[in-house]
Amino acid sequence: MVPILIKIKLMTTAMAGWTAAASPVPMPVEGVATVLGSEVTSPIAVSLFDENEHRTGNIAVWRDGSTDLATKAEVKSLFHCRTTHREKLMAQQTLAMLADIQEHYPGKTIEYVSAYRNSSGESWTSPHRAARALDFRIRGVKLGEIRDYLWTTYTDVGVGWYPSEQFVHIDTRPVEHDMAWTFLNGNNRYHPYWAEKIRTTRPTSVATIDRHAKS
Ligand SMILES: [Zn+2]
Repeated sequence: MVPILIKIKLMTTAMAGWTAAASPVPMPVEGVATVLGSEVTSPIAVSLFDENEHRTGNIAVWRDGSTDLATKAEVKSLFHCRTTHREKLMAQQTLAMLADIQEHYPGKTIEYVSAYRNSSGESWTSPHRAARALDFRIRGVKLGEIRDYLWTTYTDVGVGWYPSEQFVHIDTRPVEHDMAWTFLNGNNRYHPYWAEKIRTTRPTSVATIDRHAKS
């Protein structure tokens, strides 16, 4: 948690710069520079809420999805399998996505309903079994907006829309093709209209997750 404290300290210094700036000049150059610097060199404080166990969690994740040892333990605990209670560290690329989502929706809490799953009923090819997936929603943000942001921002991902259950599934899949689906009436419907439409009309907004995580 030390990096977060450093960030807060830097922010405070910057805010002091704003306060100290001589009126009416609203340009505390040093303060702004400090804030920009801290954004580059500090991890993202990701705010989480476990919908099943009603447990909150705050983890510091760097933009490439890396974390320190203590945070790794916390990540494993937060995202443990609800059925078997086993733990597996979430993939770094998925954590990088999580950090990006938090940065994109500042001040919001990522409310998750499912993460790592390794019960006997879970498919051997499931990204949940590989600890690469998360099912979540963000209170105050339309589910379709989250879905569209993820699908237009990343490649090498799976994005599932679950309108009835009110969550979005994300996973990172470095060796498989992108996949989008809508889950409705008990079935996955692949190549849904929202995925086709978005990537046809806004192709330039598609970026690769490699800008966040290399491994
Ligand atoms: Zn899922």
